[in-house]
Amino acid sequence: MTRWIWWADVVGVFLNQDKLDRLFPAHIEIDKAGAISGLGPSLKRHISLEPIGKPLNSIFRVNFPQKISSSGKGGTIREIVMSGKGIAEEIFLRGSVINSQNGYLLLLGHVPSEGKNNKARDLIFSDFAPTDSSVDLLFVSRFHKVLLEETRNMSQEITKKKALAEAANVAKSQFLANMSHEIRTPMNGVLGMAQVMKSFDMPPEQKEIVNIILKSGEALMGILNDVLDISKIESGRLTLNPQDENVMKVLSEAVDLHRASADAKGLSLTLEVDRACPESIHIDGLRLGQCVSNLISNAIKFTETGSVSVQVSSEKQSRSDTLKIKVIDTGIGIEKEVQPKLFEPFTQADGSTTRRYGGSGLGLSIARKFARMMDGDIVIDSEPGKGATFTMSFDAKRPQDMQKLSYVA
Ligand code: ADP
Repeated sequence: MTRWIWWADVVGVFLNQDKLDRLFPAHIEIDKAGAISGLGPSLKRHISLEPIGKPLNSIFRVNFPQKISSSGKGGTIREIVMSGKGIAEEIFLRGSVINSQNGYLLLLGHVPSEGKNNKARDLIFSDFAPTDSSVDLLFVSRFHKVLLEETRNMSQEITKKKALAEAANVAKSQFLANMSHEIRTPMNGVLGMAQVMKSFDMPPEQKEIVNIILKSGEALMGILNDVLDISKIESGRLTLNPQDENVMKVLSEAVDLHRASADAKGLSLTLEVDRACPESIHIDGLRLGQCVSNLISNAIKFTETGSVSVQVSSEKQSRSDTLKIKVIDTGIGIEKEVQPKLFEPFTQADGSTTRRYGGSGLGLSIARKFARMMDGDIVIDSEPGKGATFTMSFDAKRPQDMQKLSYVA
């Protein structure tokens, strides 16, 4: 009989005869009929009668349990206490019963009897199991293995699902980008024609209608452009196009764009650029202007009285400058808890914002994404009722031409 795969299915560890003998020198193997089919080396040395083929209870007394039973394949009965007649005297053993396909395996260890030393009982060091709880160790190792396997399976599953979700997200962003791009073409037609119509002679009510068409069309165009930007960024299809730009020019163009709406609300709108700021930098001027313009537009939108000021400063670093653009308003302000959420797409400070102020909740998330693409960020400092300061900081690289010049010099 091959005796090396005992209870491999139980412990999940293949114990060959050698390992079994070393871990449990006092083990007993029992076949299905209840006869002893093998003994560990220490018992072999100590049992005077020939045990192989004999019923277990003719050699040993099993104190507990009375009979070997088990709850099906691979089950165990713990805490068996046995005694048997050894060469020198009675041998006491204690351990567990493992039920296997081949029969039973009693994983036992010698129990030192009271008052008798091991020498007198003819026991040597290797007659004892390496630890009292070798069986427990094996079970722990089995569960460890099972857990590891389950964790591995779960993390594989999660990785697969994450990859699927990411692919779906990219596909969604690409679809959105394509859709908004496609819608923009007919929208341009509508807006162009409305512009032409505006120049026609017509009664004032009709002019008013054309103006509404134009304003609504422009608002829709703004949303389409935002959706196009965010979906392009999210699908990784938007890259920056840095060039040498004049800082003052980019920023004053962004400010001038909003002059009329600030005037209409009676707000002062100012731009202050620190003397220490570089005149030119290497940056995507279009996107920088877009970010600042968005911050100014919000500042005006959420301010009823007072001012909106744009303040620019710079900090020298070794190879570039860090430019800081603060857009400061005296408007309604923002609760601390909602501030971080405002940078998530389609998020506004509260439910009534769209009704009162309009907007899609995309501007800040686009602006922060651009700022981060420029190795920078946008942060908020605000309290309700005390206005808001949005600070965009980014890495302002030296203009390329100047770099070439300083290299020649
Ligand atoms: P939108 O302005 O289209 O709603 P944004 O992403 O630009 O989208 O802004 C998100 C929200 O952040 C706004 O709806 C508003 O609730 C809040 N917010 C942005 N700027 C300001 C500001 N200067 N003052 C108060 N709230 C602001």
